[in-house]
Amino acid sequence: MSLAHMASTNKQREPGDDVFDGFQTRYKSFATEAIHVGQEPEQWKSMAVVPPISLSTTFKQSSPGNHAGFEYSRSGNPTRNCLENAVAALDGAKHCLALASGLAATLTITHLLKAGDGIVCMDDVYGGTNRYFQKIVSQLGVDVSFADCTKVDILQAALKPNTKLVWIETPTNPTMKVVDIKACADMVHKQNKDIVVVVDNTFMSAYFQRPLALGADICMYSATKYMNGHSDVVMGLVSVNREDLYERLKFLQNALGAVPSPFDCFLCNRGLKTLHLRMERHFTNAMAAAKFLEGDCRVDRVIFPGLPSHPQYEIMRKQCTGCPGMIAFYIKGELEHATVFLSSLKLFAVAESLGGYESLAEHPAIMTHASVPERERVVLGISDTLIRLSVGLEDESDIIGDLDQALNAAHPKK
Ligand SMILES: *Cc1c(COP(=O)(O)O)cnc(C)c1O
Repeated sequence: MSLAHMASTNKQREPGDDVFDGFQTRYKSFATEAIHVGQEPEQWKSMAVVPPISLSTTFKQSSPGNHAGFEYSRSGNPTRNCLENAVAALDGAKHCLALASGLAATLTITHLLKAGDGIVCMDDVYGGTNRYFQKIVSQLGVDVSFADCTKVDILQAALKPNTKLVWIETPTNPTMKVVDIKACADMVHKQNKDIVVVVDNTFMSAYFQRPLALGADICMYSATKYMNGHSDVVMGLVSVNREDLYERLKFLQNALGAVPSPFDCFLCNRGLKTLHLRMERHFTNAMAAAKFLEGDCRVDRVIFPGLPSHPQYEIMRKQCTGCPGMIAFYIKGELEHATVFLSSLKLFAVAESLGGYESLAEHPAIMTHASVPERERVVLGISDTLIRLSVGLEDESDIIGDLDQALNAAHPKK
């Protein structure tokens, strides 16, 4: 087929056709970097194209103190290096450090502080982050407070002379509140340039959002979710540009020792090779599912940041290149309707976690957010009829078909 013919048969996309319309342009060379950065065959004597899983805990020194870049596998590992270099490129960062879990990343970052210092944390964060800050960090003499970071003036009022860290998550889980990262980071740094602004970028992945480019000092992930994307690794990642922060975090990675295994690094590094393809499909599938749910009379309200009905749709389009597969919605009725819906799903597995290739559904009030006291749950909107979906990579029609039949089970036609 001639090029001219191909061009003439290519359907012209209408504005509004593409779920990416109005979002930021995709990051340049993302796929190429995901596939090649840190993976250079020349780094191995064997010229292996795929990085080997380097299990050795120790590395031979030609004379005491004279080594080829590696001494002991907690302080540095060749397979982990490949992953860290790839993620740094994808975050537009100079450096990345891999940790044993998302919470291990949070723990390592928090060790930048000492007793007497303060953390201001977004009031609606991952339950494990909330638990760690409230139940553990605050017992160690660190002053932990919470603020609604969707309003810059509320965050500003929450800053204290001892504040050293601001912790932001966007969009939040499960109610998808979106924070304007640049507005928050600019305000915080204007107050005090030494306050470290952290963004938990787990929901977005490096493909949809670059917090460092928006002014954050640290971008962290639970790589357990989209970054690895195959629901078979628990891992955390931390990316930075500032050399001083990198030196301190690199020291902590080794000194605290919450490092991932070389095998998990291999798997996560492999997961990154398809991150761009996965995220695009998560977005189109989630958009289709969100539109279906929004148009259905058995559903009260859908929260999906890719829909114009989302209260912070404009911020989302201003700071992101697209939306992940996370949808929250309120089913009409009572708790019983939510549980019948969830029990009737056939394709979606009822399970915690998110960001894998497979579609998952869960009931936040009973499952992921059970530890949040009921009064706080009500304030956050985590009611008995709220359902959270992690839309996977299956065929769109099968995803919608499953949602439809489960809605039918919850609300049988009279
Ligand atoms: C899962 C998750 C975490 C914790 O990560 P683990 O890998 O489970 O330790 C942190 N933040 C968010 C937003 C998460 O979804």
